[in-house]
Amino acid sequence: KLPAYHHRIAAAVHSVGKVPLGIKRKGLRIVVTGGAGFVGSHLVDRLIARGDSVIVVDNFFTGRKENVMHHFGNPRFELIRHDVVEPLLLEVDQIYHLACPASPVHYKFNPVKTIKTNVVGTLNMLGLAKRVGARFLLTSTSEVYGDPLQHPQKETYWGNVNPIGVRSCYDEGKRTAETLTMDYHRGAGVEVRIARIFNTYGPRMCLDDGRVVSNFVAQALRKEPLTVYGDGKQTRSFQYVSDLVEGLIRLMGGEHVGPFNLGNPGEFTMLELAKVVQETIDPDARIEYRPNTEDDPHKRKPDIGRAKELLGWEPKVDLHKGLPLMVSDFRLRIFGDHKEGAT
Ligand code: NAD
Ligand code: UDP
Ligand code: UDP
Repeated sequence: KLPAYHHRIAAAVHSVGKVPLGIKRKGLRIVVTGGAGFVGSHLVDRLIARGDSVIVVDNFFTGRKENVMHHFGNPRFELIRHDVVEPLLLEVDQIYHLACPASPVHYKFNPVKTIKTNVVGTLNMLGLAKRVGARFLLTSTSEVYGDPLQHPQKETYWGNVNPIGVRSCYDEGKRTAETLTMDYHRGAGVEVRIARIFNTYGPRMCLDDGRVVSNFVAQALRKEPLTVYGDGKQTRSFQYVSDLVEGLIRLMGGEHVGPFNLGNPGEFTMLELAKVVQETIDPDARIEYRPNTEDDPHKRKPDIGRAKELLGWEPKVDLHKGLPLMVSDFRLRIFGDHKEGAT
């Protein structure tokens, strides 16, 4: 087994070989897997604005070209249609590994594919990181805590996860992805970072995503009833996407492996969320109760003490500020430019 610095020397030699003599590279070369998706596309915007060269790798399962189209024609931007379950050869400095459906509706659609994406996909991207000496960031999830018995959740909590349930393809898949990440770090000296992301919302979420914020916003705009699952007393903590992107960039640039919780500690029941949506879009929006889904976690709220202390990070945009930003984007995508349905 080679010690870590051998990999770095190999990578340095390798990358020198890729830059023609006399040309000084300015930014970093960065791969964002899942970069045509909701979170990925916002991250790409920030990296491009910062001056980096970005390669998006996406199979368009839940991602859309529209999310990154504004970068077409920029020589620092590349888009590759590729499934991370298949090996991939690239030469880069950093890998943000986001490829994986995130909405329960999408990840349950083909559970075996979700596991393959989490396990084989993550293995391939770690193999790539090892070969070229790139730093690797995994976007894990608060779902690794399952239906938590500790509240709020700290990174030291090991979780309460059903290994044979309908959500397991995702939460156990991400747990395995974390294991692989740590084993490549310990065994092969790969520089890794792990983020555990809590529920995040914002512009560019799929309209038919099935997640609660996108459902309520689209329903209120379309004058349909807001579908509250179960008794609506279960809680989640909702983070605006720009806060998450800031956290991911700080984590990648910092010195700490993690895992780090990245989320907004503001905790809401689904009924409270429905109320904020009513206040923001339509006070007359009706609520309709539906049966809850299997294994739905009862509560979720991040303890972000570690990220505050070691990354100097904390969220800035609360739900009342972030929701209207998402509503403008949804309004435009649902109704186009005309004002029908506008309130
Ligand atoms: P998303 O569904 O919008 O984006 C995922 C992207 O990955 C899509 O562009 C999709 O096409 C792509 N993808 C899926 N499988 C792939 C494969 N096999 N090969 C290549 N590309 C593939 O979801 P998101 O909300 O942007 O989530 C991004 C990441 O953040 C995911 O890994 C997710 O697990 C994690 N995360 C998100 C949240 C959240 O609330 N948004 C919470 C926790 C974790
Ligand atoms: N891999 C990849 N791109 C690379 C290097 C590796 O996709 O640039 C894949 C490779 O196909 C393998 C996985 O990553 O399936 C793990 O690679 P590693 O070298 O760690 O293990 P091995 O190939 O020895 O099993
Ligand atoms: N939920 C809801 N109505 C919807 C969609 C979801 O009440 O239209 C509930 C769901 O049962 C869960 C919470 O909202 O308790 C968050 O669900 P989501 O799918 O957004 O994310 P999760 O945290 O479960 O991954």
